[in-house]
Amino acid sequence: MEAEIKNENVSNSVLEADGIYFSYDNGYDVFENINIRADSGKFVAIIGPSGIGKSTLLRILGGFLKPDKGIVKLLGKTLYEPTPEVALIHQSIVTFPWMDAQENVMLSMKAKDMSRDEMESKAKEALSRVGLDGFEDLYPKEMSGGMRQRVAIARAFAADPYVFLMDEPFAHLDELTAEGLRQDIYNILFSGETPLKSVIMVSHNLTEVLELADEIYILNNIPATVVGRVEVTMPRPRNPRSDNFNANLDALYSYLTPPRKKK
Ligand code: ADP
Repeated sequence: MEAEIKNENVSNSVLEADGIYFSYDNGYDVFENINIRADSGKFVAIIGPSGIGKSTLLRILGGFLKPDKGIVKLLGKTLYEPTPEVALIHQSIVTFPWMDAQENVMLSMKAKDMSRDEMESKAKEALSRVGLDGFEDLYPKEMSGGMRQRVAIARAFAADPYVFLMDEPFAHLDELTAEGLRQDIYNILFSGETPLKSVIMVSHNLTEVLELADEIYILNNIPATVVGRVEVTMPRPRNPRSDNFNANLDALYSYLTPPRKKK
């Protein structure tokens, strides 16, 4: 029998925030000692009351804002600035009205050394991945909100990132469209056919988070810190109307008391 290979240093961590402190220039202390980790294959959600710092944390995790203390690590290396390896998908659906779907997706490849043909075929592949095969020539005004958000996701995919950071990606969609996209998104993200390893999504919609996440970090208090971490082991697809789902939902609600300022 071959000897078992043991290496204590092998880590599954894709993106992590270690001991983050952050204040805005106006003196508002947003975070105190935030520790969050997204492992390979995991959909991580961050929840918390409005204004607690969820979007700020995503910007820190993407290297767009520098923490006052603590570090962000991507695959074990400190992240000092934004990188195409970490894609941020905004709350407001960002598509450019004067470009068709394919051109909107190609934007994320402009900085790369790729021929127009390569970019076009990659954009087509990314659009097909999000269910928009055959819609390459449509302009945003000809698309529903759900389709435009799919274009934004295809654009993020086309840059071949390891991590998606999603800031309330369903917030500006009507509930039916949001539910349709939520049902698809997990399989789209974790198809295994792209380099994507982990997703971190912030949301204040607990049902949405329970539907999608493997792990949920709960932020609360001022300055904010992680007040709870929940592993969601319910099998997929998850039924928001099941008793088990509702029991999980009740447990999550119990963490979300109004934020308290630290003395
Ligand atoms: P959330 O995403 O949880 O709603 P945000 O990250 O948007 O919270 O904001 C966290 C806190 O930081 C809020 O109180 C907000 O008013 C404040 N804030 C956000 N952006 C700035 C900024 N650029 N300058 C100063 N304060 C800010």
